[in-house]
Amino acid sequence: MEPQIKYVSSDQNQPASLFMQLSLAPYDGLLEMDLRRRRVSTLYRAKKKYAAAAEKGPFEDVLRGSTELLVHPDDREGYLRFFDPATMLRRMRESEAPGVLRTRHRYKMIDGDWNWVEAILLGSAQTGMPEHIIYAFLFDLNDQPEEDGYGANVQRSELTGLLWEKPFFARAREVLHEHPKDWCVIAIDLEHFKLFNEWYGREQGDLLLKQVGARLSRAEAETGGAACYLGQDDFALLYPYDERKVELLYEQIHGLIVQYGTSVGFLPAFGVCMTDDTGTIEQFCDRAAMAAGRAKSSYHSRIRVFDPLMYEKADWDYHILSDFQKAMQEHELSFYLQPQCHIVTERIVGAESLVRWKKPDGKMVSPAVFIPVLEEYGFVTDLDKFVWEEVCKWQKDWIDGGHTPLPISVNVSQIDIFTIDVPDFFENLLKKYELPVEVIKIEITESAYVDNGAVADAVRRLREKGFLVLMDDFGSGYSSLNMLRNLNVDIIKLDAQFLRMGGDDRKGIQIMESIVNMAKTMGVPIIVEGVETRQETDFLSGLGCRYVQGYYFYRPMPKEEFQALIDNPEHIDTSGFHFEAKDQFHTREFLDQNIFSDAMLNNILGPIAFFSQHGKELDVVRFNRQLYDEVGSPVFQDYTQSIQRMVVQEDLPRLYEVLDQALSDPLSGTSAVIRFNRLDGSISQFRLKFFLEEDEGGRRFYGSARDVTQLTKLNEQMSLLTQLSPDSVVLLRNLGGELCFQVATHGLEEKLGLGRTALERELHNGAFRERIDPAEREKLVQTIVNAGMRMDDFSVPFHVTTANGTQLLLRMRFDSVHDKASGVEYIMILRMCAD
Ligand code: C2E
Ligand code: MG
Ligand code: MG
Repeated sequence: MEPQIKYVSSDQNQPASLFMQLSLAPYDGLLEMDLRRRRVSTLYRAKKKYAAAAEKGPFEDVLRGSTELLVHPDDREGYLRFFDPATMLRRMRESEAPGVLRTRHRYKMIDGDWNWVEAILLGSAQTGMPEHIIYAFLFDLNDQPEEDGYGANVQRSELTGLLWEKPFFARAREVLHEHPKDWCVIAIDLEHFKLFNEWYGREQGDLLLKQVGARLSRAEAETGGAACYLGQDDFALLYPYDERKVELLYEQIHGLIVQYGTSVGFLPAFGVCMTDDTGTIEQFCDRAAMAAGRAKSSYHSRIRVFDPLMYEKADWDYHILSDFQKAMQEHELSFYLQPQCHIVTERIVGAESLVRWKKPDGKMVSPAVFIPVLEEYGFVTDLDKFVWEEVCKWQKDWIDGGHTPLPISVNVSQIDIFTIDVPDFFENLLKKYELPVEVIKIEITESAYVDNGAVADAVRRLREKGFLVLMDDFGSGYSSLNMLRNLNVDIIKLDAQFLRMGGDDRKGIQIMESIVNMAKTMGVPIIVEGVETRQETDFLSGLGCRYVQGYYFYRPMPKEEFQALIDNPEHIDTSGFHFEAKDQFHTREFLDQNIFSDAMLNNILGPIAFFSQHGKELDVVRFNRQLYDEVGSPVFQDYTQSIQRMVVQEDLPRLYEVLDQALSDPLSGTSAVIRFNRLDGSISQFRLKFFLEEDEGGRRFYGSARDVTQLTKLNEQMSLLTQLSPDSVVLLRNLGGELCFQVATHGLEEKLGLGRTALERELHNGAFRERIDPAEREKLVQTIVNAGMRMDDFSVPFHVTTANGTQLLLRMRFDSVHDKASGVEYIMILRMCAD
């Protein structure tokens, strides 16, 4: 593009050099930058026009000063990137017009108004000067004649090609007025975009923004809507409301991110707000942004539709989170115990600890209310560690008092498994309180197990250390009995609410019967929880269930009450949880003996199918209703022939590989996660498991298929922070005005001689500051304070004294994130310094 300047050439036959042309044009500023000496000098600046004048001085200082004082907040990021001396020469070389770089931004005028300004940088290719000398010209765009097209251009962001906020609002108002139909506003937020930049570099970050911009531009053109770039990683789109299309757009934008490799933790979040006559376009945007905020904090639903309750929920969550911090300090939290009994003798075999929050006014807050909020914001581990420790302390006192202990089960959230090393934590607790391993049982919620390496691994290690592991809420989510076998838990907990499921087909009762029978045959004890009536107890007793927990027997109670109860030897049974395992599990025999309805069998087995393979062709020959539901496509029947066609190209070799492997392992079969193209263009991931049925004249397999798209996303998201090691990553959260440090991953443990908790504690109480080399201390603290005030990012090396007394050179990276959903203000990364 030609520079939008009136050129004056001194020689009519010879076009003047760009440098010459610009020098003769009416510019508002001219700076000389010396990249070698890293200094800037202002050669000319229009007087009494802009809010501040640039000075002379070190490059960084002048740049920082002018950014803060002059540049519109929304343009600052781009401005700093444009003037980044580290990449300037390379960008000039690669520029379309070599030696020329240009950008536009808003400058503050003396009267406080904003003015669009164009900066044009000229390097040696244009000026003939040494390469490290660069000239920057500034032009006031308002001085340009209307017809030069600027009116249209400044409406759009150069990077993304999308409308800026104001013109977007104007355009959206027009659209809503002229074409009233069912529109919605979608707020799009690329989560952890700062980290994305950190990992892949700014250029890739810009490229991603460009690609998202291009996709949204297309959406704008196709629908007659409007698309907007709000700066940073935020976009908004006025789009015709259609749930499938919104989902498709989501998948496409997600796809743009996925192409950067395995770190799919950078998920986009969509907030959707319907437009109606209850608000203005600005309000719809705010609401959509709020919904996007909710989507961000949820790993499962990444598209959220605004609902007025969100205003309340946001408030409510905030209350819970801020109250919770206080509650921890002011001892409002404790645990109750609910006995687990033998169904026939009614003696107490053990108990479950259930957290209780009693407010100073005596009101109880239910864990069903605050646990999900704590999980959502990542605080549940603080609570759990507290409860686990309290339970251990209590057991220790009980034993020291000469009493007989009963095993107490504690609840472990799946979030815990991702944030700390749960098996090690429990092992240390036992050591600390000198407890035998039998007195603590671990309850993990069932849905956490599915296709989840980290959880399966934690279960295995806990069992190796001797802990009994219970699968909580079995049957409520994704469970199938196959999983039971793979996971090797010691006990399953089944909720009696199945018995209360309505419907003529007694489906709940059938499921219950099937699970109990199967578990019995496999020798896995079951505790049925939530048992409320005599009838339920009788029914379960008839089924052969041995252990129960529920209001019918005992409600959860304070520990003093529990102590009084179990102090009487008549009330307790210390023989533990048992089931005589049958010698052998012959399925066919078992099935013959028990009359299973198809419905029952399907419920136990989950989605299954028969496959037939001829060379590269794989067909689904038969499938059950569960599989059809799992695939979730009404036209699935039409695609059962040659299903390999639907497989994502790169996954095909893997598919044939597992089929081959199934040949060599007829007993346990083989499984893999394979990606499929959905008809709508999005991608879903299925865990396929194959067992060889026959291998003559073409192979036949039977197997199962589970849609794990959401779960895979969850796992990736959860391991995002863990992937950052071997650095130590500290999240600084703002809790009601107070900054709190939370060590998210700990990679420097060995080097620093400080564990996660110790580091966290030292950061909190300021002791870590004392570790910093005194000569560097004040400067570092000042840098942090300054960065905090300016919301800047920085990275500095500094020396620390480790716990072992040695000196270590670390680098601290400080990123401001200001993530409203989690309250995380900054991410601090501590890393070993190579330089
Ligand atoms: P859960 O682990 O499945 O615990 C059983 C819940 O059922 C408890 O609810 C218990 O009070 C309730 N319950 C027991 N018997 C009956 C009955 O006969 N009928 C009915 N309707 N309910 C019964 P609570 O204490 O409200 O806890 C709710 C959930 O909160 C727990 O479900 C667990 O998932 C979670 N939770 C509780 N304490 C903790 C904790 O310390 N850490 C974590 N991570 N989660 C906890
Ligand atoms: Mg439980
Ligand atoms: Mg439960």
